[in-house]
Amino acid sequence: MRKILDPGKVRLLEKMIKESVRIVLTCHVHPDGDAIGSTLGLWHILKSIGKEATVVVPDMLPKSLRFLPGAGEIAVYTRHDPYCTRLVDEADLIVCCDFNTASRQDHLAPLIQGSSAKKVLIDHHEDPDIPCELMFSFPKMSSTCELVFRVIAALGLYDEIDKDCATCILCGIITDTQNFTVNCPDPEIYEVLMRLLERGADKNRIVDECVKACSYDSLRLKSFAISERMEVFPSHRAVITYLSKEDLRRFNYEKGDSEGLVNMPLNIRGIVYSIFLREDDDQIKVSARSKYDFPVSRICADLFGGGGHIQAAGGEYKGSLHDCRKILVDSLSDYDSFLPQRIEKIDWRRN
Ligand code: 5GP
Ligand code: MN
Repeated sequence: MRKILDPGKVRLLEKMIKESVRIVLTCHVHPDGDAIGSTLGLWHILKSIGKEATVVVPDMLPKSLRFLPGAGEIAVYTRHDPYCTRLVDEADLIVCCDFNTASRQDHLAPLIQGSSAKKVLIDHHEDPDIPCELMFSFPKMSSTCELVFRVIAALGLYDEIDKDCATCILCGIITDTQNFTVNCPDPEIYEVLMRLLERGADKNRIVDECVKACSYDSLRLKSFAISERMEVFPSHRAVITYLSKEDLRRFNYEKGDSEGLVNMPLNIRGIVYSIFLREDDDQIKVSARSKYDFPVSRICADLFGGGGHIQAAGGEYKGSLHDCRKILVDSLSDYDSFLPQRIEKIDWRRN
């Protein structure tokens, strides 16, 4: 495997870990498999070398991730504010995983940013701007979990990866690559997969819990969205899908129920990008996915104060669902120049 990490940085990380007494591992709001997998993966390693460490997350993890070994010991800020505050106040090292900018931590951001602990960033998003002593930023990496695996190996702790740790790390790789379908052009990711399987990673469980599993209501909600709330814009190769508060109520929406919906319209031949708008209590959550390196992160940054990766991005809109959709529809033509040239115009209904 290529040694892509700067040895000087790895040595510094080793020293920081050695010198620290209490370590906090943290990630972004609405944590996904990569956020929880990377923090818990590191947590298992730190525990195995006798360190006192805790994972502190901004809000509750979705049901699909609660099977991960150690998930029950995660401190959730929205549930246990004083406990999380104490943990962060007492920490002398904070490891920030899977986010590039403080606002991605929502209400937890001031606490983490205000802490005097040393900070390390381990992330794969573009342009990180979190003040920290040490940064491992690899935007081309499939997932923060793959990066965490490489960091652990570079620290000489490969042998410490047990079944639980390997399962957490593989979970983030599987979810961020959508089960090895996107974001995984580097052949070495399969070597990482092989190593994790060798360490006992429970791939079947991950697939059962995170890839294939959804509730009855969730499947009905997504099916409804596709059949009743999906609009195709053939000339822009775009699809917009939306769900109003009313729609969500109708299908007894629970957090995580619309997971994966944004990817579905990309199955339509000829469609290059898909944007999903969900009317949450206080804002419209925007989620975007694309193929052929069409930069949905640019759309999310330009229109919705967000960002992310070229092919997977998101943002938020403070206003009505109607206005959010209108802003988006009115702007679609601004992004036509990014559409791939090599795709011929096709009759999207008949192929
Ligand atoms: P999702 O659509 O799964 O919520 O998010 C996909 C990716 O988009 C995330 O991994 C993250 O990089 C990015 N993202 C989602 N929401 C936001 C947001 O509100 N702000 C920013 N800067 N990035 C976001
Ligand atoms: Mn990620």
